[in-house]
Amino acid sequence: MLSSKKIAIIGAGPGGLGAAMLLASKGYHVEVFEKHGVVGGRNGSLKLGDYTFDVGPTFLSMPEIAEELFEASGRNLHDYLDLKELDMMYELVFPDKNVQMWRNPEKMKEELHRHFPHDVEGYERFMDGTKKKDGTLKTDFTKSYG
Ligand SMILES: Cc1cc2nc3c(=O)[nH]c(=O)nc-3n(C[C@H](O)[C@H](O)[C@H](O)COP(=O)(O)OP(=O)(O)OC[C@H]3O[C@@H](n4cnc5c(N)ncnc54)[C@H](O)[C@@H]3O)c2cc1C
Repeated sequence: MLSSKKIAIIGAGPGGLGAAMLLASKGYHVEVFEKHGVVGGRNGSLKLGDYTFDVGPTFLSMPEIAEELFEASGRNLHDYLDLKELDMMYELVFPDKNVQMWRNPEKMKEELHRHFPHDVEGYERFMDGTKKKDGTLKTDFTKSYG
C-alpha cells in the first residue's frame, strides 16, 4: 500500500524510530524530527575522554518485541544487530555489598537469598506476573494505520 499521507514524528528515540520504520514500510511518507544532534534518545551514550558511558539501557531485555516490530516492517532485526545472550546482566554496587543480577531464575534466587532473603518470594511473584504478560506478546502492529 502506498499512501500520500505525510507523517511527522517528534523524537528519534526507539519509540519514534520504531514507529517511523513501521509506517514507512506501510508506504507513508515519514519525517522524524529530533532536537539533539544524534538519534537514539535515552539509548545514547556520553563520552568523557577515552570512556563511553551508557546514559540509559545497557542491554535489550525483551528482544522479541523488537523482532516482532522488524518483522511487521518486512525486516529482520538480526540483519541489523548482533545480539549476544547475557547470563549475568549487571551488578549493583552498594557500599557494603555487590549484587549480581542473573537471567537464570535459580541463580537470581540464590543471589537474593544471600543478600535479601525476605525478597525471594517477591521476586517469584514478579516473575510469575511477567510470564503472564509475556503470553500476550505477538503485538498486532498492522492494526489501524488507515
Ligand atoms: C537509566 C536507564 C536504564 C534503562 N535500562 C533499560 C534496559 O536495560 N533495557 C531496556 O529495554 N530499556 C531500558 N531503559 C528504558 C529505555 O531507555 C526507554 O524505554 C526508551 O528509551 C524509551 O524510548 P522513547 O523513544 O519512548 O523515548 P526516549 O528514548 O526518551 O526518546 C525521546 C526522543 O525524543 C526527543 N525529543 C523530545 N522532545 C522533543 C521535541 N520537542 N522535539 C524534537 N525531539 C524531541 C529526545 O531528544 C529523544 O531523542 C532504561 C532507561 C533509563 C533512563
